[in-house]
Amino acid sequence: MLSSVLTMTTVGVSANNDPKMSIERSDFGTTPDGERVELYTFKNTNGLTAKVITYGAIIYSLEAPDKDGQFTNVTANCASVADYETKSPCFGALIGRYANRIARGQFMLEGGRVSLPLNAGPNHIHGGVRGFHKRVWKAEPIRGNDFVGVKLTYVSKDGEEGYPGKLVATVAYELNNRNEWKMDYRAQTDKTTVVNLTNHAYWNLAGAQSGTVLDQVLTVNADKYLLADDALIPTGEIVPVEGTPVDFRKPHRVGERMHEVKEKQFGGGYDHCMVINHEKTGALDFCAKLKDPASGRTMEVSTTQPGVQIFSANFQSSSLTGAGGYVYPRHLGLCLETQHFPDSPNKPQFPSTVLHPGESYHEVTVHKFGVEK
Ligand code: BGC
Repeated sequence: MLSSVLTMTTVGVSANNDPKMSIERSDFGTTPDGERVELYTFKNTNGLTAKVITYGAIIYSLEAPDKDGQFTNVTANCASVADYETKSPCFGALIGRYANRIARGQFMLEGGRVSLPLNAGPNHIHGGVRGFHKRVWKAEPIRGNDFVGVKLTYVSKDGEEGYPGKLVATVAYELNNRNEWKMDYRAQTDKTTVVNLTNHAYWNLAGAQSGTVLDQVLTVNADKYLLADDALIPTGEIVPVEGTPVDFRKPHRVGERMHEVKEKQFGGGYDHCMVINHEKTGALDFCAKLKDPASGRTMEVSTTQPGVQIFSANFQSSSLTGAGGYVYPRHLGLCLETQHFPDSPNKPQFPSTVLHPGESYHEVTVHKFGVEK
C-alpha cells in the first residue's frame, strides 16, 4: 500500500553531495506476519528513478525517458504487499535460493540426497513455496560519487525450503549517472549448498501498463540454447539457435515468430534458457537488448552469468491486476532472467552451481537504459 507519501524520509544524496541524486525511504505496508516493508526511491542526475521494496528485494518501478524526454515506469508491479504475496508471478523479484527448476526437487550433493518441496507439478521452482521473493530483506542505503542505491541482505536458515547450509545472500542495487541499473549478487554458506540468484522483472519499454511487449524488438547474444522436456526441465542438450524461433542474434520483434514455438510446455511463447556467448567464463558481457520502436526506449543487459531465461509472460489468466486496478494482459512484458542453467544440480555437464563454505558466490547484471530516435 502506498501510504508512503506521508512518511517519506530523505536518507541521502550521492557521496559527492550532488542534490540531484537522492535516496528516499518510505513505508510500503506490512506482511501478514506483521513485518514492516520499506520502499526506497533512487534518482540519478538525469531524472531516472528506481524504486525497490524490501519485500522480495523487488524492483517496484523504473522510470525511464522516451525520445521526447517523457518518463514512464517500464516494469510490472503490484499495488500492495498482499498482492505480491498472493497474486504476483514474481514481478520484479529476486529469486533464490535456486532460480528456475530442479527436476523432481532432488539432487545428490557430497554423497547425500537433497529433497526440496515440489511446487511446479513434479518439480521444484524458484526456491520453493516461500523463496527469497517472499522474504523481507534488510536494507542499507549505499552511495558513491556517481551512484545511489541500496544493499539488501537476507539470511536463509540451514534447511530452509530443504536447502542445506545457512546462506547469507546480498544484492547491491546501484543506479548511476550513465543510466545503468546494476545488480551485484553475493552469497556465502556454512555448509555445501547450491545457489542460483536472478531477478524476475517483466520489462515493457512502452510502459508497464501499456499492453503487450510483442512489438518490441529483441536481440540476444546467444548462439545456443537448452532443449527442455515436457515439464521444462533441460534434457542436457545444448543446441544451436540457427533455424529456430529463438534465434535472436539479429533483432526480431518478440511476437514475430512466437507462433513457431510449437512445444506446448512453453505455453505459447518464449520460456527458453539461452546460452550467452562468453569468451571468458564470468566476464561481464553483452546479453540482450530490448527496444521499443514507438517510444525509442532501449534497454541493454550485460551479465557475468552463463544463461538467460527469456520468458514472455505466457499466462492464460487475465486476473492479474496492478496499481490502479490495471489488468495485465498475456505477454505483458519480457523477463530476461540472467542465471545459471535450470537443473544444474542434476547436470554435471552444466557450469556448477555448488557453493562450498569459504567460497564467495558473485554475479553481476547491468541494465543500461537509453533512447534511439
Ligand atoms: C519460468 C516460467 C515460469 C515463470 C513464473 C520463469 O522463470 O521459466 O516457466 O512460469 O518463471 O514462475
